[in-house]
Amino acid sequence: MHLKDKVIIITGSGQGLGRAMAEHLSCRGAKLALIDLNPEKLQEAVSACQANGVEARAYICNVADEAQVERTVQQVAADFGALHGLINNAGILRDGLLLKVKDGEIHKLPLAQWQAVIDVNLTGVFLCTREVAAKMIELQCAGTIVNISSVSRAGNMGQSNYSAAKAAVASLTVVWAKELARYGIRVGAVAPGFIGTDMVASMKPEALEKLAAGIPLKRLGQPEEIASAAAFIFENDYFTGRVLEVDGGIRL
Ligand code: NAD
Repeated sequence: MHLKDKVIIITGSGQGLGRAMAEHLSCRGAKLALIDLNPEKLQEAVSACQANGVEARAYICNVADEAQVERTVQQVAADFGALHGLINNAGILRDGLLLKVKDGEIHKLPLAQWQAVIDVNLTGVFLCTREVAAKMIELQCAGTIVNISSVSRAGNMGQSNYSAAKAAVASLTVVWAKELARYGIRVGAVAPGFIGTDMVASMKPEALEKLAAGIPLKRLGQPEEIASAAAFIFENDYFTGRVLEVDGGIRL
């Protein structure tokens, strides 16, 4: 699919990878519906895309809230009159060990900490995909959905919630590629390694240095390197049901 004039929703696009993908796709002429919770950052992202000469609009929406997602997708379709793409990018971290033993006491990972990540990183992907795919079928727009998984899907210590959600997102990519192909909808995923965004900046500098040393390419990735992978999935009409791993070789 050529990106020029295609209408694409990007969730979590106020900053980080979502923002980089928005700017990258706007440079290729896509029209963008940008979703986030943070109005100021969202407006900055919209302005950056508009500066590249494309139509871009902001939508405040919590991807984990069914009614908000339904309303937002309806609104995007009404505003643009078409819908060709979705990037399920919004995500959060709430790391913690399943059990931590300190001074003879066992501290358990709270259910709320588990659930917060599952709600945004997994249920949010389900809700956005369901609503967008239904709208694509209704509007007879052949479309493409890109999920953002993670290298953490292989299982990271301290990330029960996040690893589970990102592994599920990779497997849903296969399920939905099979289910939606008959409607002309392709579904792919990108599994980034460690990329230099605020999410990773929250790690301690020593931990980051150690991490980079263990990556064959010896550095963190750049947001732009994930954005170009997402663009590849949109533009290659024979790509579906697969996860592109863009991680500097960290799992080799
Ligand atoms: P980030 O924290 O910099 O940005 C995430 C954005 O999502 C923020 O703008 C935030 O406001 C928005 N958001 C959070 N919860 C939301 C919700 N409920 N509804 C709508 N928007 C919401 O994160 P990032 O590093 O840019 O990561 C983006 C995606 O890439 C995430 O899914 C993350 O898990 C994944 N990822 C990131 C890395 C990395 O190294 N940065 C690696 C692998 C995967």
